[in-house]
Amino acid sequence: MSGYNPYENMLNTLDVAAEKLGYSRSEYEVLRHPERELKVAVPLQLDNGEVRVYEGYRCQHSTLRGSAKGGLRFHPDSDENEVRALAAWMTIKNAIANIPYGGGKGGIKVDPKTLNPRELERLTRNFVRRIAPIIGVNTDVPAPDVNTNAQIMSWIADEYSTLKGEWSPGIVTGKPIEVGGSLGRNEATGRGCLIALQSYLAKKNLDIKNLTVAVQGFGNVGSVGARLIAQAGAKVVAIGDVSVNIYNPNGIDVEKAYEYANSHGRSLEGYSEPGMTTIGAQELLAQPVDVLYMAALENQLNKDNMENIQAKIILEGANGPTTNDADKYFYEKGIDIIPDVLANGGGVVVSYYEWVQNKASFYWTEEEVNERLTKNMQNSFEAVWEMQHKYNVPPRQAAYMVALERLVVETKWRGYNC
Ligand code: GLU
Repeated sequence: MSGYNPYENMLNTLDVAAEKLGYSRSEYEVLRHPERELKVAVPLQLDNGEVRVYEGYRCQHSTLRGSAKGGLRFHPDSDENEVRALAAWMTIKNAIANIPYGGGKGGIKVDPKTLNPRELERLTRNFVRRIAPIIGVNTDVPAPDVNTNAQIMSWIADEYSTLKGEWSPGIVTGKPIEVGGSLGRNEATGRGCLIALQSYLAKKNLDIKNLTVAVQGFGNVGSVGARLIAQAGAKVVAIGDVSVNIYNPNGIDVEKAYEYANSHGRSLEGYSEPGMTTIGAQELLAQPVDVLYMAALENQLNKDNMENIQAKIILEGANGPTTNDADKYFYEKGIDIIPDVLANGGGVVVSYYEWVQNKASFYWTEEEVNERLTKNMQNSFEAVWEMQHKYNVPPRQAAYMVALERLVVETKWRGYNC
């Protein structure tokens, strides 16, 4: 959609939240500006000898509550504006989760599918060398995001450690278990989405077993989340990824689709099962389901398609899938949103546990990780729910208000604005 600016979207929500809480602009002005932004040129010599230069970014939106923390995405549409919004959303998300981090994000404007594994590794390592001056175990800790994974995190840890001259696993989270990753991290975002959904359903006296679900996006967040939601008893009737959108009124065999995508380069292209048909991408979003689980990119539910949405609940696994216009429209229509900064916080929460384990060189069981994650998500949900009902505001606004209160208190104690 032309003219869409995700950072403006974030500022609007922040301003409305501040107004509701009665804060003057001076009390939170600092949060309207990213603290530090770095843009780098990342060279890569392809295997055929050709040299290309890609744009890379790292934005540290805030370090008020601790290290900047947030993922790295490799995507052809990535740019400074997107990374800036994503970094700010991390500040909000980390404050809601009440973990000792600020917010950051980064990325490379690249389609990783155009590179082979060796080229991808060299690109990643070259990027690390260029952002190394501003990242650090106690300053800025990247993680996986769209099109990045445990292998890429492992290269980052290795390259940074080589530069540093000491093994520094805490420089990045979302690593493979064998190189200091945490049990449960790979499933954490999807699991967190399920916990947020269940917390919501408990408030509404609804049973997950009676729900139908459509899923947009089948990367880590979409596939793991869909699988856990189906295991909990919901019927997933539609799933879409970049290649195809599938529909099965009897319920998709999510387990089978998950296995298929994992063994076909994370794509559902070519997948089939009895009773299944293919539908259009917009048709998927317009399904008359109970839950629309958004797990792809930002700006998916907007002015152009908001009136077609028939779901009763929107669960935001992706960052920023709903624009301000659509948000307002859904609120007026009585469609409930479990907002991104709350719903998808499970990933960074377990990233925090991974970082703590790296620092202590003491590793937890998966059960311990999941137990702590569950408590954390439930506490966050309660805080947002309470705020929402105390002020009678939409859930996203309530979520921002929870974050803003914590951030403003911290700026005051620290004298951050002096
Ligand atoms: N990229 C994920 C997010 O948007 C995880 C960030 C992290 O673990 O630091 O929340």
